[in-house]
Amino acid sequence: MASPEGRAGGAATAGAGAAAAAELRANTALDSRQQQQKRTELAWVCGTCEAECWPIRAESRCLCGHRLKEHAAAAAAGRACANARCSCPGFFFIVAEGAWTLRCRCKHRATEHDPRTRACGKGAACRGKDGEGGACGGFEASWVCNCDHPWTAHRQVEVERKVATLAERMAGGGGGVPAAVAAAALAAAAAEELERCMVVRRGREVAAD
Ligand SMILES: [Zn+2]
Ligand SMILES: [Zn+2]
Ligand SMILES: [Zn+2]
Ligand SMILES: [Zn+2]
Ligand SMILES: [Zn+2]
Repeated sequence: MASPEGRAGGAATAGAGAAAAAELRANTALDSRQQQQKRTELAWVCGTCEAECWPIRAESRCLCGHRLKEHAAAAAAGRACANARCSCPGFFFIVAEGAWTLRCRCKHRATEHDPRTRACGKGAACRGKDGEGGACGGFEASWVCNCDHPWTAHRQVEVERKVATLAERMAGGGGGVPAAVAAAALAAAAAEELERCMVVRRGREVAAD
């Protein structure tokens, strides 16, 4: 009962469908290539100004006291701490720089809090947040970030970052005179370290220690 026009239309649709499928396959292949150049990382961002205030690196400290690199790398695995004596269920970023580490409003260190409940583990020795009395039920800092927003406005998020391709790494690294490249890398690392120090100094501790 189908008209010739109908059959012709059907053929055209099938042809268009095949073309669309081919295009989809091409796009999917492209997507997977792009995904191979991306990696999920952690970032510490301000929910008020949306700034990525603090870099979270392999050496960054968790509430449990262990570094990010000591936690499971996969986000799917919850980034639990791999240290056999640690009960930390997942990385919880603590702002730190050199010997300075963020403390809780209860005046105790992050590492003195239970990594599972984040409550202070000092028991009766803890006078609670801002000395209000009672036990501190969960780590909270009074520190104000460089972005001028309180620690509590910030959150740890998963971000997708592009990973430099081999060609890009060659261009930026091993292609030149090794000594010159090493010196440039050192200078860049030093500048980055200095910038991080500046960020901490611009931030301020509100509660007297
Ligand atoms: Zn941890
Ligand atoms: Zn740990
Ligand atoms: Zn405490
Ligand atoms: Zn506390
Ligand atoms: Zn901030």
